[in-house]
Amino acid sequence: MSPIIQDSYISMKWTSFTIVLLYALLGHSLDLNPTKLCRNIPGSQGYPDAAAWAQLNATVAGRLVDVVPSAKFCAGTCSDAQWTSALFRNTIPGAMDQPNWEQGYDLTPPSLCLRNSSNTCGQGDVPLYSVEAETVEDVQAAVKFASKYNLRLVVKSSGHDYLGRSTAPNSLLIRTTHLRNVTFTDNFFVGGKNLGSAVTVGSGVPAQTVYQEAESQGKIAVLGTAATVCLAGGYLQGGGHSALSPSFGLAADNALEFHVVVASGELLQVNSESHPDLFYALRGGGPGSWGVVISATVKTRPTFNATRIIPVFVAAKNTAAAALATVHAEHIFDFDSVHAGQYFYLLKNSTDPNAPTVFEFITYFPNNITPEQSQVLLAPFLNASLAIPGVELLSMQQTYADINSILFSPDDAVGDNEVLGSRLIPEAAYHDPTKVGEVYKELLDTGSLLILGHLVAGGQVAKNADISSAVNPAWRSAKTHLILVNQWTDSTPLSEISTIRKRFQTQQLPILEKMSGADAGSYSNEADVLEPHFQTTFFGPVSNYAKLSVIKSRYDPADLFIVGAGVGSERWDEWGLCRK
Ligand SMILES: Cc1cc2nc3c(=O)[nH]c(=O)nc-3n(C[C@H](O)[C@H](O)[C@H](O)COP(=O)(O)OP(=O)(O)OC[C@H]3O[C@@H](n4cnc5c(N)ncnc54)[C@H](O)[C@@H]3O)c2cc1C
Repeated sequence: MSPIIQDSYISMKWTSFTIVLLYALLGHSLDLNPTKLCRNIPGSQGYPDAAAWAQLNATVAGRLVDVVPSAKFCAGTCSDAQWTSALFRNTIPGAMDQPNWEQGYDLTPPSLCLRNSSNTCGQGDVPLYSVEAETVEDVQAAVKFASKYNLRLVVKSSGHDYLGRSTAPNSLLIRTTHLRNVTFTDNFFVGGKNLGSAVTVGSGVPAQTVYQEAESQGKIAVLGTAATVCLAGGYLQGGGHSALSPSFGLAADNALEFHVVVASGELLQVNSESHPDLFYALRGGGPGSWGVVISATVKTRPTFNATRIIPVFVAAKNTAAAALATVHAEHIFDFDSVHAGQYFYLLKNSTDPNAPTVFEFITYFPNNITPEQSQVLLAPFLNASLAIPGVELLSMQQTYADINSILFSPDDAVGDNEVLGSRLIPEAAYHDPTKVGEVYKELLDTGSLLILGHLVAGGQVAKNADISSAVNPAWRSAKTHLILVNQWTDSTPLSEISTIRKRFQTQQLPILEKMSGADAGSYSNEADVLEPHFQTTFFGPVSNYAKLSVIKSRYDPADLFIVGAGVGSERWDEWGLCRK
């Protein structure tokens, strides 16, 4: 019997299950107040007047601020180093790390604010105001205000979101970036049961802080390789992969508790005993759809040393790069015995099939595997790679240190205009390495320049298949997560940008599916917001989405928390401003 059937929620009467399923599939609203067809925006009747905003500002102790796009904030004075720094961009309430999400490309007329023309700025898809929350009460006040005035509400912690889900035009933003408490314990209790060692982090705590503080405590948590991604923000709600996932599972598999302000304004303690339905949804059900997370608690383990080895190859032309991808596929199971994680990134700067490709393999050998042991494990892959005509080793770095310091990153390089598309590649696909190489070759030959691979599944991720959470079941049979990145510059014409934004669906996915199969899912945090069947691509079987829809209707009956390609978004336009 599948876990979904075993779960207590599905013991609800079949009648209501079927109705919700129909609603979810047909895109109908569960809101019983159909009169509110659109959110209030400036100028519409019901939009708060100056006095109401002033009252909100007083309630949140002056922490209500005007929001502008990052280019307007910079007004031509930000250096390249600042523009591309996630730490710096996090100081700007309106900034997204990929500035394309600040642009209103699809508004009529388009509303843009570009770095080199900030004197002609539109507000684009950037919120109008932000509550820079420092307390639970700030969040509650903002949620109640948005609800009372029927405002478009968005939530942001770092602004990293690759689907633009933490920004929206004409909206009120709640920024949780200042919620920075970190508390470690050896004994974390849920319902009287001691679940052991854990850390509780505020939803504004960046990954780099968790790594630093965990190292000083002699512990490690499952987290990504990023400086400023917030564990208790979107990362965990999307599922959260890590170089440590083959050893310890996804981040969501390690979550023990959340504190969340839901649409009613109530602060809920959410765990396996208290609001277990919401606990299910917050672990993989997609970020931004459930409420404002104040903090999350995840398991910790004793820290250990790890070896990181980064061989970087250059392949003379596409045929050599494809052969390298085939060899990589042949050796992808070489590290399974030690649960190594790996990021394998292919970068090209020309669409010429005879231009060189850089292919780097950032490989993490956890759990005190020594450099010598790691080299032995990596040698068959390295030797086979170097035997390929046209493939050369550019460099090879090696580090052996505490895993926290290996995964710690001082900043994230951001600031590009880019969109992603991705698939979770089933383990079975790697039993045909020739096919893997052919797919890489076709992707390269048709102009793909950036292919990011993540060996972050298998091992404990597969073994955790029986955990009842909203994590996409495709993770459990996946070996890797492959991302196609499509970029453009501020001088790219709008018509071309429109084509680039659709490239994953129109051009790359049919190629990728030759390797992944047609039903492979996708990791919703690093994916294409234009996925036409996001309900199943991101969340698995239709019954999963139906279950999430029921939970949503219970905690957010008026759809206050709507994000692109998130639960309930099928009822709304692309900005979450008007019902369809
Ligand atoms: C440089 C970089 C490295 C990355 N590395 C990894 C990785 O190793 N592993 C991995 O799994 N992913 C990784 N990601 C993807 C990452 O998981 C997502 O971008 C994730 O959405 C970031 O969450 P955030 O809260 O930091 O971002 P934000 O843009 O602030 O928010 C993302 C989403 O979460 C919601 N959200 C934010 N805060 C809250 C809150 N307090 N309450 C409720 N909802 C909230 C937002 O509404 C939005 O929907 C990486 C991204 C980047 C840019």
